Amino acid sequence: MIKDKVVIITGASSGIGEATARLLANKGAKVVLGARRDDKLKALAAEIAREGGQAVYQVLDVTKRSDNDDIVKLAKESFGSVDAIFLNAGLMPSSPVSALKTDDWDKMVDVNIKGVLNGIAAVMPTFIARKSGHVIATSSVAGLKAYPNGAVYGGTKWFVRNFMEVLRMESAMEGTNIRTATIYPAAINTELLDTITDKQASEAMRGLYAKFGISPDRIADVVAFALDLPADTTVNEFTVGPANQP
Ligand code: NDP
Repeated sequence: MIKDKVVIITGASSGIGEATARLLANKGAKVVLGARRDDKLKALAAEIAREGGQAVYQVLDVTKRSDNDDIVKLAKESFGSVDAIFLNAGLMPSSPVSALKTDDWDKMVDVNIKGVLNGIAAVMPTFIARKSGHVIATSSVAGLKAYPNGAVYGGTKWFVRNFMEVLRMESAMEGTNIRTATIYPAAINTELLDTITDKQASEAMRGLYAKFGISPDRIADVVAFALDLPADTTVNEFTVGPANQP
């Protein structure tokens, strides 16, 4: 059940993370918000408090291991423990390989892969010690199917898929009671397209999203569904997107 669960959300300053924070807080969760934009987190935490919810926030750069440790510490100091983490922070500066946008490649590896590992490293000791925990991560349909411009972005999301499935298996084998849920969104209207620096990739994506994109609230619904399941049950994978997107 969601009520009173302490949930860390990375990438909570916009899009899917922001929508999820709002919904979970509305359902009685204690949310711990992390991202780099302090002003956005402050405004969201204030809005949640005004609505009668509970939220704390901290500037978090997921590429910095110590920031991840600090947000787990904040959750424990504010609310006593951590029940779940939503590893959601991500970037999508897609481009064709031939454009050789090596800075964008580095950013995606740092945030979408290393950021997930840093979050896991920070929270796992708590989950192992209390023999329970819920790890929810945002992969992408690009983590299920290859597509042009997505060689690196898709690769980072395949990583998330593989990592989460192995974590699920090992947790079951080791009896740590750590549940996992991996979400594979298709076109969701957020700020994600602003991270694309390649003109052709940007135009292609903007066309697709203008035609099909749906609200990030739909992903929030899925996170809430996963967190609401009884402790002996897990739904491991959710592919979610516009009903009319081929
Ligand atoms: P947004 O751009 O709206 O949100 C991305 C979030 O990640 C922001 O809150 C941003 O905050 C945060 N972020 C980026 N870099 C860092 C960092 N170094 N440290 C901490 N936080 C960071 O896009 P979405 O909501 O769409 O993206 C959320 C996730 O969903 C991503 O992992 C994305 O890959 C995935 N996804 C999205 C899809 C879509 O269609 N929108 C489809 C499939 C997957 P800040 O800039 O303040 O740090």
